[in-house]
Amino acid sequence: MLELGGFTPLTTTDWPGKLAAVAFVQGCPWRCRYCHNPELQPRGVHNGPQWAEVLATLQRRVGLLDGLVFSGGEPTVEPELAQAVDEVRALGLGVGLHTAGIYPERLAALLPALDWVGFDLKTDAAGYDALTTRQDSAAPVRRALHHLLASGVDHEIRTTYHPQIVGDEALLAMARELKAIGATTWVLQPWQPFDDASRPLQESWHPPEPALLERLRAEMPALALR
Ligand code: SF4
Repeated sequence: MLELGGFTPLTTTDWPGKLAAVAFVQGCPWRCRYCHNPELQPRGVHNGPQWAEVLATLQRRVGLLDGLVFSGGEPTVEPELAQAVDEVRALGLGVGLHTAGIYPERLAALLPALDWVGFDLKTDAAGYDALTTRQDSAAPVRRALHHLLASGVDHEIRTTYHPQIVGDEALLAMARELKAIGATTWVLQPWQPFDDASRPLQESWHPPEPALLERLRAEMPALALR
């Protein structure tokens, strides 16, 4: 059964330009240094909403919502995600997906049924394992990004900016990589401070410097800030 860790009945920010609900799939194999949802990382917790209840809520909101976003955690960790996508589509709602591209072949199989993807590109290839704290984490993401761009599915590639974790040179390498593969979207989103002040990284965030933005936009003119 689809394992959820949470459900948000209405958001205007998780699928840009759409009124959406968000289902947070429980589970993620990575342990990113800046993860804001560590409670969503383990599988087998089973303390979230039931999928049947979420579907019933969505059914009552047909005509009010544009669609549902599957977020996480990493939603492609869920073996029953494809079936859940079909069930949402059967209601006449659109389906969006937030993914970090951890399982590229699963993403490729899902793409024909998706209306939009928010793709979390974390850093340049050289910095991936240090950020995710998992070995060989960069290569699958690059394959997933290839599948996404080849699919033609509407999407947004976004990167969480924290200068201690994703430095200037990493951003410049990403800009060059995105340009080389023909990406047309890239959003830098601010790292959000943790509620818990005892966690590291709390004090050191600052917005990207104008000079850095200029260099990034020279490579990727589509770069936007959130
Ligand atoms: S991929 Fe996302 S959910 Fe998983 S550990 Fe990293 S930030 Fe957290």
